[in-house]
Amino acid sequence: MNKNEFVKVEITDMSTVGEGIGHIDGCTLFVQGAVIGDTVRACVTYVKKNCAYASAREILIPSKDRVTPLCPAFGRCGGCTLQNLSYPSQLIFKRNLVANALKRIGGLDAEVPPVIGMDEPFRYRNKAQFPTGVDSSGSPVVGFYAIGTHDLVPIADCYLQPEGDRRILKIILEYMKKYQIPPYDEKTGGGLVRHILIRKAYATGETMVCLVINKVALPHAEYLTDALKELPGIKSICLNVNSKRGNVILGNEVRPLFGDAYITDCIGNLSFRISPQSFYQVNPVQTKKLYDQVKTFAALTGKETILDLYCGIGTIGLYLAGQAKRVIGVEVVAEAVRDANQNAKRNHIDNADFIAGTSELVIDELPPADVIVIDPPRKGCAEKLLQVLISKAPKKLIYVSCNPATLARDLKILTDGGFQIAGLQPFDMFPETQHLETCALLVKVSVNEA
Ligand code: SAH
Repeated sequence: MNKNEFVKVEITDMSTVGEGIGHIDGCTLFVQGAVIGDTVRACVTYVKKNCAYASAREILIPSKDRVTPLCPAFGRCGGCTLQNLSYPSQLIFKRNLVANALKRIGGLDAEVPPVIGMDEPFRYRNKAQFPTGVDSSGSPVVGFYAIGTHDLVPIADCYLQPEGDRRILKIILEYMKKYQIPPYDEKTGGGLVRHILIRKAYATGETMVCLVINKVALPHAEYLTDALKELPGIKSICLNVNSKRGNVILGNEVRPLFGDAYITDCIGNLSFRISPQSFYQVNPVQTKKLYDQVKTFAALTGKETILDLYCGIGTIGLYLAGQAKRVIGVEVVAEAVRDANQNAKRNHIDNADFIAGTSELVIDELPPADVIVIDPPRKGCAEKLLQVLISKAPKKLIYVSCNPATLARDLKILTDGGFQIAGLQPFDMFPETQHLETCALLVKVSVNEA
């Protein structure tokens, strides 16, 4: 196979990032734009020793699982990778992702139950950060970056976001045009508006609009706030100042233009204050299901001490606190710890404390716990933490993971250390994309059984 060659290939599998996989003469071909069950004509884009990459140019025989993507930017925008696959097939794909990772990376033969999905797998996200740029005529646009690049794909409406976002973006673009407010230019570091952050609290209907800007002030800001605050649900309009070069989206300084610099959302009976910088799960419908699963796995009696490691703004720990004796949360971002402690107060929870620190460094100093919840970022847990968890041997360890590969790696270490997988449940927190969340329950095998 050579670069630019056209090949006909039947797609028999899918990769972890949602490409179709086919085989030609013993070579594995990763085909962008193809789904399992398709036969496609594809153009080879890159050839390596044992595999090659290609892009589907013509669907010769469409898969029965293929659907027409809703979004006109599908295939160019780096956000959704699975919009051309029917939703039931997306759930099967994700179940296989978890099972394959556990088997191949962890050497674990655990039975993976079907992924718990959504009834409505579109318009589920509560947060978007749209980068800005200019189109070929020089007019300001917003959009998302193309896969693996910083090339802006203009978007008027993202189908994962609430309908209201479209009107917010339109008003901001009209304002930028009217007053010639320049979008930020990554190459020169010039320009003003870098990103538009929109958050919606579905439980209360409150919406926050935050413009991330390169300087400390926004000219004619009152024109913009007057137009935006007429929209339903707008509760907070603010600026976030970020004049540093690089990929970090938000700076530290927040300036309210209208309302407070936060909105309030609820999960179950608890309410949370969310500021532009707060980490907060993006899919409220599925978050509730995930947290309920954690609660079911924990099966609390009211006597337990719980550690909530990687706690963010304390949501999981607070969700469990009502049924536990004591909750201690650990989080590396100091502002999130402050939010977590405030969230405990606002919900009148007095048996939960949140401390700033790195889980693997503070774990040794924490009191013994009956249940330990870990919810690390994509890179998983530090090995040191896993070794301490093995020696601490809590009755229950609940691992919430957003990356099947690092979950499998870490579960291998934990099971080698004497834990047993007693429950496993994947959740589709991110329909239309290749991402998912998995919740695992681990219990220590007793000495007699070991
Ligand atoms: N449990 C929370 C947040 C999970 S996201 C929720 O459900 O909303 C993972 C969190 O881990 C982030 O808030 C991140 O800041 C934090 N984090 C990353 N590395 C960490 C470490 N080594 N120790 C403690 N917290 C860490």
